Amino acid sequence: MKLQKPKGTNDILPTESNKWQFIEETANLVFSSYNYKEIRTPIFEHYEVFSRSVGDTSDIVTKEMYDFYDKGERHITLRPEGTAPVVRSYVENKMFAPEVQKPVKLYYTEPMFRYERPQAGRMRQFHQIGVECFGSKNPATDVETIAMAQAFFEQLGIEGVSLHLNSLGDKESRAAYRQALVDYLTPYAEELSDDSKRRLTENPLRILDSKDKRDKEIVLEAPKVLDYLTEASLDHFNQVRSMLDALNIEYTIDHNMVRGLDYYNDTIFEFMIDVKGSELTICAGGRYDGLVEYFGGPFTPGFGFGMGIERLLLVMEEQGIEIPTANSLDVYVVVLGDEANYPALKVVQSLREQGFVADRDYLGRKIKAQFKSAEAYDAKLIITLGEEEVTTGNIIVKNNENRREVTTTLENVYEDFNPIFDELLEEIL
Ligand code: ATP
Ligand code: MG
Repeated sequence: MKLQKPKGTNDILPTESNKWQFIEETANLVFSSYNYKEIRTPIFEHYEVFSRSVGDTSDIVTKEMYDFYDKGERHITLRPEGTAPVVRSYVENKMFAPEVQKPVKLYYTEPMFRYERPQAGRMRQFHQIGVECFGSKNPATDVETIAMAQAFFEQLGIEGVSLHLNSLGDKESRAAYRQALVDYLTPYAEELSDDSKRRLTENPLRILDSKDKRDKEIVLEAPKVLDYLTEASLDHFNQVRSMLDALNIEYTIDHNMVRGLDYYNDTIFEFMIDVKGSELTICAGGRYDGLVEYFGGPFTPGFGFGMGIERLLLVMEEQGIEIPTANSLDVYVVVLGDEANYPALKVVQSLREQGFVADRDYLGRKIKAQFKSAEAYDAKLIITLGEEEVTTGNIIVKNNENRREVTTTLENVYEDFNPIFDELLEEIL
């Protein structure tokens, strides 16, 4: 039987994993400097964690949930997005309690699952980095979180990222806007795409986001949500804008931007980037002040964003960004004959305990093949262990690049390899 990975999944191979590590380590560094802490939630949750919070008319919930009933007849879903589980955890673990420092700043790097039609850049298992900040309604939180995403892209070396901004307003703004939008769209009802016909009654704001050509033409002249903001929402939005200006962060207002998730209010944003002539969203997020309450906690404002790692990698590849490769070997031990097996075991072990990256031959291969391995691993130094070395205890350590050698003893290697390493690798003047 030939087993293959499930459709829409990927193996991250050793030749790729250094890129993933680079992205994850960069996220750890940048987010830590903003006082964010990592949170890890389960890969699966109760279906209800997502069904209504994400929006029961959203694509994620209506079409893409990886849900099933477990042996105990519980309705389970593989996590399709990161915010709802983090909010669930925030409430369940009472992070709203007064003794927990506010705001609570959390980030995650996790696999997500969506039952989509797999295609380039669209997987059934993919990965997101996301952040959530709880407990601050201060527009400075919106702005610093946006700035943090931007700093992250900068650290990765990604260029040409543009910030798109909009506000959905509070509940009251949204109700007024929804009505205005329905009034505007109703005369066009027959011309709308089938999806949008349905959205017109269920969730008219989504029509703004439609990918259908005729829909796009129709919404061009649609009323703008910013004209329907309440005083409080407008004030919040204006403060966000002037704080972005204060940090010299450029942005454009995108009147037709809505988000694919239902829980947002007020500030929403996307970072877009041009890849091969088309605009790609690499990061999206916004404010969700109602979500903690929805999950049974006290009213707690929230702000966050998510980004797809696969998409980041695509952009980095597109921009030719060099990603540091995994460590090469400090020492490769060439092992000749059975007598050398035990000493080789001890030598590499001792080297690793001293902090060197070391490996050896395990397969009793010919010397030529072993030197090829040393080459392939980009080993700085080579130690050859054969019958003679084992009997006398005298060994030669060789710099694999310039062929310089040092004669020493196994005892010296066990004792302290550093002087030998330094001597062989010091620059020749
Ligand atoms: P789209 O409109 O492209 O379907 P979305 O609104 O579903 O996007 P979000 O739910 O906002 O996307 O997810 C945030 C990010 O996660 C996306 O910008 C993208 O980078 C990534 N993402 C979403 N779905 C997938 C997927 N199926 N495969 C790979 N990455 C994905
Ligand atoms: Mg989607």
